[in-house]
Amino acid sequence: MRPETYFDKLISESEIRIIILIINKRMKIEKISLVGKTLENLIEICESYEVKKFRAKQLFNWIYKNKINTFNSIKNLPKIFLHQLEKEYKIHSLNFVRSTQSESTLTNKFLFKTQKGSLVESVLMIEGKRVTLCLSTQVGCALDCKFCATAKMGFIANLNPGEIVDQFLLVSKSLEKPITNVVFMGMGEPFLNYNNVIKAADLLHDPNGINLGYKRITISTAGIVKKIDQFSNEGQKYKLAISLNGTTNEQRLAIMPVTKNNSLNSLLEVSKKYTTNSNTWLTFEYVLIEGSNDTIEDASRLIEILVGVKKCKLNIIPYNVTDGIFQRPDNTHIKEFMKKLNQAPFPVTIRWSKGTGIDAGCGQLATTEKSISD
Ligand code: SF4
Repeated sequence: MRPETYFDKLISESEIRIIILIINKRMKIEKISLVGKTLENLIEICESYEVKKFRAKQLFNWIYKNKINTFNSIKNLPKIFLHQLEKEYKIHSLNFVRSTQSESTLTNKFLFKTQKGSLVESVLMIEGKRVTLCLSTQVGCALDCKFCATAKMGFIANLNPGEIVDQFLLVSKSLEKPITNVVFMGMGEPFLNYNNVIKAADLLHDPNGINLGYKRITISTAGIVKKIDQFSNEGQKYKLAISLNGTTNEQRLAIMPVTKNNSLNSLLEVSKKYTTNSNTWLTFEYVLIEGSNDTIEDASRLIEILVGVKKCKLNIIPYNVTDGIFQRPDNTHIKEFMKKLNQAPFPVTIRWSKGTGIDAGCGQLATTEKSISD
């Protein structure tokens, strides 16, 4: 409890709250979202209402485990406290706009609107019991990868932890099956929003709430070397994936401008350091683009450059055509490329996107409207 001050004698805590509410109403300040708050944040909120600490854990449970949409659904908290909370807070930080389903019904794209009116997308992929949600971490992206639809939007904003986790909560509510895996691979470069992404991953992992295991959460980066190093030094336990997409520095630079300040060599060096320090598998993603990075020499070079990275896996993703200048190689050529890669001493897989019909494939996420008003 803070010590009583001269001003406390003049004006009580409840009077201060009423004044804040009136000011907020006049200034049309939005209520604060509870999704995104950690247990420590909720303890502080409870204490500010002079409500016992243990109530924070109950509130945390209702938000993240029971995935409530309204304060009315909360059963075991004092009604007066809920009434007070509702005046200043709301549950969600995103509003659901619409969802689009692929013909196969195995891929769903969800569109959400942030409080500031920006649009973000998440993609759900169902493969048997494995239900993976691809989360966006930014509105737009600054990295300008030449084959990516999101890049055309430019960078608009970072998403906060609540806006990232809320994609998970709102999609979960609409499903009968539980989401088993999450990948930070939607719109944006996760490592250019590092702190918010790690906070969101921590909330997704928290055993008192959503409780997704460390290995069910993957962060996929275009290769921000400094941040991979930070991730490695911090001993983060989430899975890491790196978009490689080129076998020489020049080739990678031509399609991924991020290579200018994050050379292929430095990326491979930091990858070696990460797998050695963490003793964890690292996945390299390789978007296969016709005439750009798809020769048999590229396949041989991939083996050469990755062989030194202990515990690496390579995932080949045949390019999903957007409205750009790039094309997917034909199937015969993809087969030859994969045949060469069969000689690799590390695991190599191919991922055929199931969401291309609804522009939900890898590199296809981009909202046509940058924002919509109420
Ligand atoms: S591929 Fe990823 S990092 Fe590159 S521009 Fe698109 S969203 Fe950004």
